[in-house]
Amino acid sequence: MIIKEYVKNKKIEMKNLILNMERRPKLVIVQINEDEASKAYIRGKLKDAEELGVNAELVKLPLDTTEGELLKKIDELNHDESIDGFIVQMPLPKHINEETVKLAISPEKDVDGFHPLSYLDPCTPRGIMNYLKAENIQIQGRNAVVIGRSNIVGKPMARLLLKESANVTILHSKTSFEDMKRYIANADIIVIAIGKAGFLDRKFDYKESAVIVDVGINRLEDGLHGDAERDLPVALQTPVPGGVGLLTRLALYENLLTIVENKK
Ligand code: NAP
Repeated sequence: MIIKEYVKNKKIEMKNLILNMERRPKLVIVQINEDEASKAYIRGKLKDAEELGVNAELVKLPLDTTEGELLKKIDELNHDESIDGFIVQMPLPKHINEETVKLAISPEKDVDGFHPLSYLDPCTPRGIMNYLKAENIQIQGRNAVVIGRSNIVGKPMARLLLKESANVTILHSKTSFEDMKRYIANADIIVIAIGKAGFLDRKFDYKESAVIVDVGINRLEDGLHGDAERDLPVALQTPVPGGVGLLTRLALYENLLTIVENKK
C-alpha cells in the first residue's frame, strides 16, 4: 500500500481510539527557534493533532531563553499531570546544549524517544518498523543493511531490525566503497539515513526483491530529494517526499498513545 494510504488508514484507527478515551491525550511542543524547516515540522505535528483529536499546545520561548530557563520549563512539564508527553523541537540556539535538554525530559513523557532510558523508540525507526510489518515484509532471517549510525535514526533502526531477528549490518562514512557495494548487493532490506541526495544510485547492484527505505531529506533547489535516486530496480522503494517523513509524524502520536495506554 502506498504510504499516504497507510497513514490515512492508521489515523482513522487512532482517531477512533482517542474518541473512546475518557479524556483527550495532551501533547506540548516547545519551540525556541525561527528555523523554517522546524516551523514546517511543527505545523505538520499540530495539523496531525487536530485531525486525531489530540489536545496539542505550542509553547514558544524567546531565542534568548537561557539553558537554565528552558530546564525550568522542562521540569514544570515533567511534573504537570495534565500533560501526557512533550517535545522540545530541535535545533536549539547555540548557547543551549541539546544533549542536556534531551536528558532533562522525563523518559515517561519523552514522545520523541530520545532519552537513553526511554521505553519508547525514536519516531522514525518506530514508524518504519510498523510500516514494514503492515506491508508484510519478511524481516526475520533477512539481510538488513542500515546506512548511517546516528542516535536518532541509524542506531535505533538497527536495534529494532535486530529485535525482529534480521541479520543486521550498519554502514557509515568510514565504510569503503567496495564493502558498501558488496553489502548492498546482498541486502534484502536497505534503510538509508545519511543526508546525501541520490547516494544510492545505479552504481550499486540490488536484489530485485529488495526493499529500500529512504530516510534522507535533502533540500535542493529543485525540491526535496531522498538519499536514493528515484525508481531504483527493487521491489519497493519509499518515496521522498511522501514517505518516511509521514511515517515519522504518525509515530509521534503512536508514542503518545503508548504513554497514555501505559498509564492505565
Ligand atoms: P546525522 O546525524 O547527520 O548522521 C548521518 C550519518 O550518515 C552518520 O552516521 C554518517 O557516518 C553517515 N554518513 C554520512 N556520509 C556518509 C557516506 N558518504 N557514506 C556512508 N555513511 C555516511 O543524520 P540523521 O539525523 O541520522 O539524518 C540522516 C538523514 O535523514 C538526513 O537527511 C535527515 O534530514 C533525514 N531524516 C529524516 C527523517 C524523516 O522523518 N524522514 C527523520 C530524521 C532524519 P559517520 O557516523 O561515520 O559520520
